[in-house]
Amino acid sequence: MAAGILLTSPQGQRHRFDAGTLFLEILLTGGPGPYERYEILHSPADLAAWLPRSRLGAPVRLAPAHLRISPMELREVKRLRDTLHPLARDLAAGRPARPEHLRALNDAAGAAPRPRIDPATRARAWELPISGTQALGALARDAIDVVASPRAGRVRECAAADCLLLFLDTSRPGNRRWCSMERCGNRHKVAAHRGRARGATRPSGP
Ligand SMILES: [Zn+2]
Repeated sequence: MAAGILLTSPQGQRHRFDAGTLFLEILLTGGPGPYERYEILHSPADLAAWLPRSRLGAPVRLAPAHLRISPMELREVKRLRDTLHPLARDLAAGRPARPEHLRALNDAAGAAPRPRIDPATRARAWELPISGTQALGALARDAIDVVASPRAGRVRECAAADCLLLFLDTSRPGNRRWCSMERCGNRHKVAAHRGRARGATRPSGP
């Protein structure tokens, strides 16, 4: 399975977007202010359905039934998400993370999903069920791992002027520019090609 989450653009096109890391992936589920209209986490069941599709569910197989999320835990996850939005924007703009955002990460980084290995098959798994508090901890730990490392400088906004998607650039040379080649990368190539074609056919002046 290719990495990333399938998104549908306002024009109805579907493309795969790999946010590169868990704490940026959850920004796709909604957020404060302008992100409210993208909200998909209306109930604990919505979060239980989303987590298996996130990188927490890969490579380990997770199903919604493996998650135990209370309404209060959902509120905690969404509160952390409200912090992750401006935190990620700060990083993408090259600004240092704000102390109040870092304190929120520390507060949320308690429990975490417990990894397990099957002695017979050596397959990696999670101890199940995973609680909403453990999912919250996984998000906070992921953010801390990135913010406290040189990878903080690899949080980027898609280079398309009309695209706000944020991702962690995990490419070796660190030159990823687009949320997805299928979407913004391609739009850019087409626009550049048209620009060149227009330049070539423009009648020359006297
Ligand atoms: Zn984009």
